[in-house]
Amino acid sequence: MKKKLQKVESQSDSGKDAPSCPEVFFKTNTEAIKDNIIHHLMSFQGRDPERSGPTDVYKSLAYTMRDIMVEKWISTQKTFYAKKKKRVYYLSLEFLIGRSLGNSLVNLGIMEDAKKAIEGLGFDMSEIRDQEEDAGLGNGGLGRLAACFMDSIATLKIPAYGYGIRYEYGLFYQQLIDGYQVETPDNWLRYGTPWEFERRVPVFPVRFYGNVTGYLDDNGRYRAKWVNTTDVMAMPCDILVPGYRNDHVINMRLWTARASRDFDLGFFSQGDYISAVQSKVSSETISKVLYPPDHNLAGQELRLKQQYFFVAATLQDVIRRFKKNNREGFGKFSDAVAIQLNDTHPSIAIPELMRMLLDIEGLTWEEAWDICVKTFAYTNHTLMSEALEKWTVDLLGRVLPRHLEIIYEINRRFLEAVAQSYPGDINRLRNMSIIEEGPPKMVRMAHLAIVGSHSVNGVAALHTRLLKDRLFHDFHRFYPGKFNNKTNGITPRRWLLQANPELAALIGEHIGDDWVTDLAQLRRLEPCADDPEFRRRWQDVKRANKVRLAEYVKDLCSLAIDPDSMFDVQVKRIHEYKRQLLNALHVIHLYHRILRNGGEEIASRTVIFGGKAAPSYWRAKLIIKLITSIADVINNDPRIFGRLKVVFLPNYTVSQAEKIIPAADLSEQISTAGTEASGTGNMKFALNGALTIGTLDGANIEIREEVGEDNIFIFGMTAEEAEYERLNISRTPLQICQANAEINDVIESLRNGCFSPGNRDLFMPLVESLMNKYDPYLLLLDLESYIQCQHRVNAAFLDPEEWTRMAILNVARMGKFSTDRTIREYSEEIWGIPVA
Ligand SMILES: *Cc1c(COP(=O)(O)O)cnc(C)c1O
Repeated sequence: MKKKLQKVESQSDSGKDAPSCPEVFFKTNTEAIKDNIIHHLMSFQGRDPERSGPTDVYKSLAYTMRDIMVEKWISTQKTFYAKKKKRVYYLSLEFLIGRSLGNSLVNLGIMEDAKKAIEGLGFDMSEIRDQEEDAGLGNGGLGRLAACFMDSIATLKIPAYGYGIRYEYGLFYQQLIDGYQVETPDNWLRYGTPWEFERRVPVFPVRFYGNVTGYLDDNGRYRAKWVNTTDVMAMPCDILVPGYRNDHVINMRLWTARASRDFDLGFFSQGDYISAVQSKVSSETISKVLYPPDHNLAGQELRLKQQYFFVAATLQDVIRRFKKNNREGFGKFSDAVAIQLNDTHPSIAIPELMRMLLDIEGLTWEEAWDICVKTFAYTNHTLMSEALEKWTVDLLGRVLPRHLEIIYEINRRFLEAVAQSYPGDINRLRNMSIIEEGPPKMVRMAHLAIVGSHSVNGVAALHTRLLKDRLFHDFHRFYPGKFNNKTNGITPRRWLLQANPELAALIGEHIGDDWVTDLAQLRRLEPCADDPEFRRRWQDVKRANKVRLAEYVKDLCSLAIDPDSMFDVQVKRIHEYKRQLLNALHVIHLYHRILRNGGEEIASRTVIFGGKAAPSYWRAKLIIKLITSIADVINNDPRIFGRLKVVFLPNYTVSQAEKIIPAADLSEQISTAGTEASGTGNMKFALNGALTIGTLDGANIEIREEVGEDNIFIFGMTAEEAEYERLNISRTPLQICQANAEINDVIESLRNGCFSPGNRDLFMPLVESLMNKYDPYLLLLDLESYIQCQHRVNAAFLDPEEWTRMAILNVARMGKFSTDRTIREYSEEIWGIPVA
């Protein structure tokens, strides 16, 4: 087998990607890759290469990739240390990375060699790639953003690390049983993952519970001591993230909880072996499972412990690394360290850093606070006040007693400053306080994050404006300049090059490959929109993607769908604010129209849904049941001759998104204006040549600005109009139904059990929310406008040349939405690190 530790001079024999370091262990040509796979099959998996199956080969190829990456990672780390650069720490409770094999092959530039190697072993690359389990360590957009950021950070060579939790169970696996969502555990580590390095060092203790005592130090100053704690150890696992063809590899460090001692010796002395084992198991549950609510629900103790666990371990690692490079003390801390908080989930880091600087390092409050504010920056992800994180004072004080003390002191000083600016304005103090008066008294984590950071950013222009004008208006006035916008993006490596290789190749033929790292280059495609030959090839690519998706749907759902119909897609978490129900109402309306007039001038459609509902969100789960019920009725109605089909694809994940999005014609982005902070699904679709039907919400507004209003289908209220309607109710749902017979028919069919044979009242809770004049999501108020807009979509789709022209222009004008642009802005404007 392969003598792989033999050094080779260079990679020049593999062509384009000569490495920057002079010596490399691992060659990346076809033969070397094949040899390495065989080596891994035998030495590490004990398999006979001639009798190995696709899972064995997948694993061995993955290890081969990891070998190549670790070498580049080591040299990347050396350059960080050598240049004593400022480090960025991106703290996120979620990293929705999905699969890594395709991404590493693409980013290392060895997809073609690896394909040949795999073929040489008698396998097909797509079969091998389908062996990989998704790393579903996130819920949705927030977690996927963190993953896209890691790709751009590595590609732009920013000295940064991602920090999070290595959940043993990722987001639950969704099955549909009788049309209902049923959750089962995502045991993604069952067979291990080849992508991580488990580390034995550094391992850090993390403390919980106990109580605080005070003492006077040598200088006579009060020092707090946190005692009688229950301790858990944090063990690091590193996942490597390669930049795009730049020999740069960074890592995500994900913490696993381990019992502080293997067994609690106290129990042994009492002869209680079982309790000793239980206490070990209980400390290890901290990193066991990802919480499935997407936009915050009920403050659970284990969730708070997860947050503190990963923050406490991370800050110990940050300070360890800081001390290694800076021997002159903490004065320069914020010149060496920037910490970005992805939502409030890691915001307990603010009192934790205070605690370390005060109680361990012995700094004064003023010194410590100055360092904190200069170090931290906070990204807000929601405008919905009910989704803002809060912990009861009681819970936080029990789990983290010292932190509660520190939070009270932060708040006391903060409110004193506010009172100075606004003497006598008690109401303002109450609204801005970090502590919400009870009962029960609560700690408002967003307020803590705003006060303790030098930067607070929203994730789209509208979102940031509404943060300043509404949700955090008082803070914006008190801290002018602290609030700023960083419009989200997506990485074009995963979401175009990797997910849609044929479209990427067609684009490459016309404008070269620079767009992969400079997405604004796509503008050069604009003239191609008017070239009939180019349009024909564009249509061929789209159709091939649709045929592949149709095969996937056939396999998964045993349903035949027509690749020539319009693929109308809404995939995202199921949430009332995202309004899958609005889409469902349009489907019913379309069904009625086809029944009425035989479907003349109605383009055939396949309406595809996908997404998970939080297990405790019964209303979202009922929406899933409604969609699957509508599908049952429509797909089996011979009167419509297959002109309309409805699919609910189970278990939406990143890898499924990569199959669906390149095949979409129409992208549904229909949240109530003023509720979706940005959205990133909207960007993925537009980048793959789907046209958007959407509201003036989140980044849809900026997408319209870029692609032009003639190339997007916009309907419904603005955020301002929606807010006005909530307060004034100009028309009630009942009045809307009375004025519009078609809408009335749609509601009536839900009421009279058309879609729930044998269970007439099944969907009454949904009817009641639709007909409630206080419906916060204003579905009926937007329905008429939505239906009219869908008419325009229909007409446009009946003109394939015009549709294709619009699709090409969408792709050509998506340059802004690369995370390379987003990360450059974070780096230069928040972290103070210029990007080459
Ligand atoms: C991009 C993405 C999301 C976010 O989609 P939105 O439409 O922005 O809510 C959620 N889940 C997965 C798997 C994704 O890839």
